[in-house]
Amino acid sequence: MMVFSCNISWVFNLKNILYKSSMSLLTQKTISKKISFSGIGIHSGKNVRLDILPAAPNTGILFKRVDLKKNNLIYPLYNNVSDTKLCTTISNEHGVKVSTIEHLMGAFYGIGIDNVQIELNSDEVPILDGSAKNFVDGINNAGLTFSDQPIKIIKINKNININEGEKSISLDTSNVTSEIEFEIKYKNKIIDTQKNKINIFEDNLEDIFNSRTFCLYEDIEKLKKLNLGKGGSLENAIVVRNNKILNIEGLRNNLEFVNHKILDCMGDLFLSGYKIVGSLKCSHGGHELTNKLLRKVFSDKSNYSLIEIKGKQLPHNFANYYNLKSIA
Ligand SMILES: [Zn+2]
Repeated sequence: MMVFSCNISWVFNLKNILYKSSMSLLTQKTISKKISFSGIGIHSGKNVRLDILPAAPNTGILFKRVDLKKNNLIYPLYNNVSDTKLCTTISNEHGVKVSTIEHLMGAFYGIGIDNVQIELNSDEVPILDGSAKNFVDGINNAGLTFSDQPIKIIKINKNININEGEKSISLDTSNVTSEIEFEIKYKNKIIDTQKNKINIFEDNLEDIFNSRTFCLYEDIEKLKKLNLGKGGSLENAIVVRNNKILNIEGLRNNLEFVNHKILDCMGDLFLSGYKIVGSLKCSHGGHELTNKLLRKVFSDKSNYSLIEIKGKQLPHNFANYYNLKSIA
């Protein structure tokens, strides 16, 4: 283990921001008690029960398929992503999979949950209302348990870009922020062009958590032909038909379409295993592009540093950077 020897001013600033947003961000957290959800998988159409259980420090996030007796553990990591068609699917080396993990992972990332075990009795996370709202409410109701173990953070050292026609994604170095700026461009006049930018450490993420998945009415038949969307309905997705939103309740916020894409992006980014200090920009991307970005970041160790941040220090003690170690 090597003591981090670069300019430490960014660490000072980052700790300040983490402290301001919540002192608890500095140490690992889990939930205080088990939370349970039941619902339908949006793509499989199968009923599923999902329990989230507290886990010890340094466990990370772990999925367990309790309908299987063996080979049933799957880690939500970027290199376990086996499919990105309309949702994010992870698989272990035995081909055991869990799909549509992104909204749950986005809730963990946004709230700052480091360690939990997720048990489910099918191969897809329930879609619930199509957003992360139910997961976030459940976690908030259960409460959080703080450990004294330091969090780890990935600091981006070099700018990384991927451009694929009209799609692009980039992750730029930043000393203190964890930002996502996302843009979507649709021909449909209701969705149209939407853009939003959030700072994960500092902003209120309620609109992001509450934003539902969406689709165009004319794409529903195509989904069915792909054997996807079998559990989709107006209960769990916004459906747009020409100039009309078919859900009678309308939208939950003015930027719900792009805000949902930001939720997806947060969830997919958490497949790095840690929070990322860097500035992400994406235009017209999705699960596949975010996964390609992570694979590119981790293909070269000089692209990033994995940093351990210890400390329950008060802000005026933040210069105690001897507690900071690089473990990359
Ligand atoms: Zn989504």
